[in-house]
Amino acid sequence: MSTPLLSVRGAQRALAGNPVLRGADLDLTSGRVTALLGPSGSGKSTLLRAIAGLERLDAGEIRSGDALWSARGQHLAPELRRVGVVFQDFALFPHLTAAENVAFGLRGIPKPERRERAITQLERAELAHRADAYPHELSGGEQQRVALARALVFRPDIVLLDEPFSGLDRRLRAQLRTETVAALRAAGLAALLVTHDAEEAMEAADDIALMADGVIVQTGTPEEVYLKPASLLAARLLGDVQ
Ligand code: ADP
Ligand code: MG
Repeated sequence: MSTPLLSVRGAQRALAGNPVLRGADLDLTSGRVTALLGPSGSGKSTLLRAIAGLERLDAGEIRSGDALWSARGQHLAPELRRVGVVFQDFALFPHLTAAENVAFGLRGIPKPERRERAITQLERAELAHRADAYPHELSGGEQQRVALARALVFRPDIVLLDEPFSGLDRRLRAQLRTETVAALRAAGLAALLVTHDAEEAMEAADDIALMADGVIVQTGTPEEVYLKPASLLAARLLGDVQ
C-alpha cells in the first residue's frame, strides 16, 4: 500500500455539545477513490468538513505529508489545503454563470486566464455549450458536473464529494457516478466519496471506510468489507443483514 496523502487520526469534534466525531481514523491515497459509507447522522459530513478545513478539531489530528493541517488549537485555512469540495446540494452561486462558478475556484489568478481555464474544465465535462447559463437554467446532472468542474479546476490534490448524486434520479445517478469516478481517476488525485448507499460504495470505490457513531469501524477494499464484515454493524451497513 502506498503512503497516504492524507491521514486523519483520532479526530474528535463536538457540535452544540453533541460528540459528532469520536476518534475517527482515515487515510486517503493518491489515485484512489475511498468511499465513506455510513448511515445518516453518523458524522460523515462533519469529517469531510474537518478535512476541508471548514470545521475545527477538539482532539486528534489531520496531516497531509509533513504538514499538520488540524489539531487542537491548530487550524490551517481551507484555501491553503489543496482540497476541492463538491457539496451535497452542489452549492453553486445562483447569481453566477456556470463558467463564473467554475472560475471562482481560481481566485488569485488573472481574470482572462481564469475564464479560459474554466471553459477548458467545462469542455472536459462536455458542458462548454452551457458556460453562460445560470444554475437555475441547468438540469440537476449539469449542476453536478459544474460543481465537480469547480472542485477540479485549481488542480487539487484531494477532492471530497458529499453525497454528490443523492438528489438525482437512479439512471442519471449511475451515469454520473461512472463519469465522475473516471474523471477522478484520470486526475490521479485522492478522492473521498461520502455516501449512505452501499451499492454506490461497492461500485465506485477502490477502498471503503465504514462509519458509525463518529468513528470508522472498518476499512478495506469493497471485496474485503463485503465478504468479511468485521461486525454486525458493518454487515448492516452493507445491506447484508437488515
Ligand atoms: P452525516 O453526514 O453522516 O449524516 P453529520 O456529520 O451531518 O452526519 O452529522 C452527525 C451528527 O451531528 C448528527 O446527529 C447531526 O445532527 C449533528 N450535527 C451536525 N452538524 C451540527 C451542528 N452544526 N450543530 C449541532 N449538531 C450538528
Ligand atoms: Mg451528511
